[in-house]
Amino acid sequence: MVSVYLRGRQLARLQASAGQFFVWRFLDGPGCSRGKPYSLSAAPRRDRLRITARDLGPGSRRLATLSVGTRVVFEGPYGRMTAAVRRTRKVTLIASGIGITPLRALLEEMTYAPGEAVLIYRARGERDLLFRPELDMLAARRGVRIVYLCGHRIPGRDSWLPAQYAGFADNNVLREIVPDIAGHDVFVCGPDGWTAAVVRAARAAGVPHSQLHSERFSW
Ligand SMILES: Cc1cc2nc3c(=O)[nH]c(=O)nc-3n(C[C@H](O)[C@H](O)[C@H](O)COP(=O)(O)OP(=O)(O)OC[C@H]3O[C@@H](n4cnc5c(N)ncnc54)[C@H](O)[C@@H]3O)c2cc1C
Repeated sequence: MVSVYLRGRQLARLQASAGQFFVWRFLDGPGCSRGKPYSLSAAPRRDRLRITARDLGPGSRRLATLSVGTRVVFEGPYGRMTAAVRRTRKVTLIASGIGITPLRALLEEMTYAPGEAVLIYRARGERDLLFRPELDMLAARRGVRIVYLCGHRIPGRDSWLPAQYAGFADNNVLREIVPDIAGHDVFVCGPDGWTAAVVRAARAAGVPHSQLHSERFSW
C-alpha cells in the first residue's frame, strides 16, 4: 500500500471534492502514458491532493518507486459520489478493502455533528485496515462511530459480512449496527459483488434508492 502526496498551484480551480477520482499519468518513464484511475484518499486542499493505492500490478507498483518531484498529468475530477448528493443529515459509509479511500476523504470533508456519521469498515484482518490512526482521530475529534468488521467471507453465501455473522441475515445486522439506517444517506465502496450485497441489505433495511450512493473501482 502506498500513498502519494501531490503538490500544485491553484488546485482549488479543479473544484474537486472528496469522493471523486482522477486518471493519473506519472511522468516517470516508459509506460507513463497509460492512465490509471485513483480516488482522492484525503479531502482535497488548495495546495495538496493525496491518493492511496494497493499493490496490484505494474501501475500501482510504480507509485511506490516515484521520486520526489515527479510530474504528473491528470484528468478529472470524475465521479458523483460526493457530499453534494446527500439528502439527509445522517450518513453511514460502508467500505471494504481499498474502497476505504474515497470514504476516508468524504468523512474528512462532509459536515455532520457528533453521532451523525457511522463508518463500517470491512477487511480480511486487522492488519489489512488502512488509515487506522486517521480514522481513530476522526472518531475522537468529530464523533464518527467506527465499526470494524474483520474476518473471512461466509462460505457459500453472497454476503457482505464476515464469517462470524453466518447465522444472521445481512439486513438485520446492518439494522443492528445502525438502527435508524433508513434515515441515513449510505455511501458504499468496495468490490462489485460485495457492494451489490451491501446495497441489497440496505434496501431490505429500508434505505430508499435515492439515499444510496456508490463508486465502482472496476471498469
Ligand atoms: C473510479 C476508480 C477509482 C479507483 N480508486 C482506487 C484507489 O483509490 N486505490 C486503489 O488502490 N485502486 C483504485 N482503483 C483501482 C485501480 O485503478 C486499479 O487497481 C489499478 O488501475 C490497477 O493497475 P495496475 O497496473 O496496478 O494493475 P494491472 O496490471 O492493471 O492489474 C493487475 C491485476 O489486478 C487486476 N485488477 C486491476 N484492476 C482491478 C480492480 N479495480 N479490481 C480488481 N482487480 C483488478 C487485473 O485484472 C490484474 O489481474 C480505482 C478504480 C476506479 C475505476
